[in-house]
Amino acid sequence: MSGTSPARPRVFNFDLGSFKVAALLDAADIRDNLASAFAVGQPPAAVLELAVSNFIDQDRYEHCFIPTLIDTGSQKILFDTGCGDEDSSLLDCLQELGLGPEDIDVVVITHGHPDHIGGLVRDGEPAFNRARFVFGAAEFAFWTEGKAVRPARLANRDLFRRICTDLADRATFIEPGDEVVPGITAIDAAGHSPGLLAFLVESSGRQLLIWSDAFLHYVVSVQRPDWHADFDDDKEKAVETRKRLLAMAADRRLLVAGHHMPFPGLGYIGRINGTFRWIPVSYQLNT
Ligand SMILES: [Zn+2]
Repeated sequence: MSGTSPARPRVFNFDLGSFKVAALLDAADIRDNLASAFAVGQPPAAVLELAVSNFIDQDRYEHCFIPTLIDTGSQKILFDTGCGDEDSSLLDCLQELGLGPEDIDVVVITHGHPDHIGGLVRDGEPAFNRARFVFGAAEFAFWTEGKAVRPARLANRDLFRRICTDLADRATFIEPGDEVVPGITAIDAAGHSPGLLAFLVESSGRQLLIWSDAFLHYVVSVQRPDWHADFDDDKEKAVETRKRLLAMAADRRLLVAGHHMPFPGLGYIGRINGTFRWIPVSYQLNT
């Protein structure tokens, strides 16, 4: 990965009811080609206007990778494992919280892309050797059966098989509507990948929507949910999912954790003049 990080925090933690939540910055890439990544086929003028009105560059953008850790009081549950390469900071982030990989009780894999499964292994060995693993049943079947994988994802399929197949006997396979533990329920977010799962987390009346990769950019994906992202495997389904989750987050005024939003990847969805906006957290969680 390219890009260097300025000095900044890489762990952001807060209470959600009786749960303790931490956003962990595994990595942050600076990349080119905003339009070809998130605005496939859109006129350059439309991309430029969106960028200018949001005070971001029309081409270069930051892509953060932010796994989420939830301590329910009885179990420590990690959502996704980051890229797992030499630039990955996930284990350092855990260390800042006084935790090692052996302290993680459950690892939830929202979907099988490299930046979410890569950290499952460290130096060729399973990184979380005490954990139970949770996969979406449809996602696991998609990669292991390997049918209908688009050419751009063939290397991804091989990586998934190499890393995840051996974890099956320590894994639970879930579907939308199933709980990981009481208070954490899977939601269908398919599109970006065939079995992508989002999660609704509830504790003592407080709620958090972990939307994983249903949204890849905090401006483009949220303000133009019907624009196609190159990274989405089923582009039309990804559009449907974004619209459904945007309405849900806005109507229920949910706190959202987004894996690829600007760190700490926490915000709300506002409805403004018939469109949606990502409204980053400021001090709402400092209570
Ligand atoms: Zn991702």
